[in-house]
Amino acid sequence: MTHPAPSHILPTYARAPLEFERGDGVWLTTTDGNRYLDLGGGIAVASLGYSHPHLTAALQDQGAKLWHTSNLYRIPGGERLADRLCEATFAEVVFFTNSGAEANEAAIKMARKYQSSCGHPEKFRIVTFEGAFHGRTLATIAAGGQQKYIDGFGPKVEGFDQVPFDDWAAFEAAVGPETGAVMVEPIQGEGGIRTVPTERLRALRAFCDAHGLLLIFDEIQTGVGRTGTLFAGEKAGVSPDIMSIAKGIGGGFPMGACLATREAAKGMAVGSHGTTFGGNPLAMAVGNAVMDVVMEPGFLEHVRSMGLAFKQRLAELQDRHPSVIAEIRGDGLMLGLRCAVPNGDLVAAARERHVLVIAAGDNVVRLLPPLVISEAEVAEAMRRLDAACTDIEAHRRPGPASAGADAGHNTSAVLKGAA
Ligand SMILES: *Cc1c(COP(=O)(O)O)cnc(C)c1O
Repeated sequence: MTHPAPSHILPTYARAPLEFERGDGVWLTTTDGNRYLDLGGGIAVASLGYSHPHLTAALQDQGAKLWHTSNLYRIPGGERLADRLCEATFAEVVFFTNSGAEANEAAIKMARKYQSSCGHPEKFRIVTFEGAFHGRTLATIAAGGQQKYIDGFGPKVEGFDQVPFDDWAAFEAAVGPETGAVMVEPIQGEGGIRTVPTERLRALRAFCDAHGLLLIFDEIQTGVGRTGTLFAGEKAGVSPDIMSIAKGIGGGFPMGACLATREAAKGMAVGSHGTTFGGNPLAMAVGNAVMDVVMEPGFLEHVRSMGLAFKQRLAELQDRHPSVIAEIRGDGLMLGLRCAVPNGDLVAAARERHVLVIAAGDNVVRLLPPLVISEAEVAEAMRRLDAACTDIEAHRRPGPASAGADAGHNTSAVLKGAA
């Protein structure tokens, strides 16, 4: 399964030694025929699972007609998807991108341009939160503020002020005469499934209104049904001025979008931003197909009830394995297990039991399964996670090969080869 010669892929990922050939629903099958239950969903991307017939048909239909025209011409599928996204949200305009980071770049540029067009070009700074993840472009690593992503890449892009996740006084202190916007994930994904409390989201909205700041939600991971509502901010009854989405909206096709009110977008005129590929007919066909399914009556109820079923069983799992699992977090089908062992150990042990989960910050293991997961599959997932926890306990019991406490985040020296 591993490459015999050094790979020509730039080694920026510590990849698990698995190669998948096909997928079906929540299941992935390797090239050598092993099936894995995927609770990672390709990092919250495979929102409708693999090989969803409606998505496959939409892709094949459009694939036989027209892939790309550029944004020099009108794209009916994009007009339609923008109408639907605006119909379903606070938004009045949409800019389509190829990725989450690009959706955030559009959001950042739009917020700066808004302040500039209001006669405040000096208000270009954006307050963000520790533990945030907004992407890997030069601006979005500065927005996310994580030193490990910034180091060595030259001067950090100017204009982002980071405050602790849960410190209102620090937040207020960070807002100054140059601040133009606040950017926040309603639930931090990479940061470890950390939920911003409802009252805090409301307080941010009120604060932004009182101080002429734009509120930007990064719903790239939380959006498109993941938390059981179409967007996570809805639960708090809070609308942003600008919202970035990606991951789930494409169901695996690379696409994103920046949604905004007309007011927030008023600085963006012809020529002020662009993309060659963003919003192309192929992407728009898939995005519309995802919306067809997510907007079907009952779909979001399904997400909520599967989320509840998971959370209940995860609480039981924690009760049975307190030496492995310290805390359950999250909402809908965006769940986190804060680990009492290195989170990489649980990721590896789960993989040995053929279930895929994803490490996150704060020593958390994330579950972001396809939203179409069934009750029986939730039960199967729990049996496998339970077995994985038991395996970890067996390996950690004092003995000749007792576990090192500081195994890496994504690999486990202890469990490697333990199959
Ligand atoms: C994944 C993610 C991004 C970056 O998206 P890319 O498509 O990888 O550029 C930004 N913000 C959040 C919250 C994400 O989860």
